[in-house]
Amino acid sequence: MKLTELPRQCPDCQQPFSPLVKHERTLSWPAKVLLVIGIVGSFLVGCVLCFFVFLILPAGGVIVPIRGPIAIVIWTPIIAVVTLPGIVFGRWALMLPKCVRLLCFRCGWKQVFLVDNRG
Ligand SMILES: [Zn+2]
Repeated sequence: MKLTELPRQCPDCQQPFSPLVKHERTLSWPAKVLLVIGIVGSFLVGCVLCFFVFLILPAGGVIVPIRGPIAIVIWTPIIAVVTLPGIVFGRWALMLPKCVRLLCFRCGWKQVFLVDNRG
């Protein structure tokens, strides 16, 4: 459904909705689940990489710098890898249809519609 296809009047009391009301688009529950998966995935990847950098490498005699220009060269790709699941799943979540809630202030009728991103 497109945003322009939403009902212009209340199905119960037949009163037109105010043209001043803006339709707020929110994430649907599958999109929210994808967002949580992305955040948890980024957290888990970060934990694995921190475990590798702070426990495995020092045990092998490798010193990992945490300051200076060398640290920036080392940590930038690590941070990019850590944020990758969040970016991928977040982008996927934003591509799903959004929820628009219509509410009639006169009779209390309300309904949630799924709206395409392009409409
Ligand atoms: Zn109504």
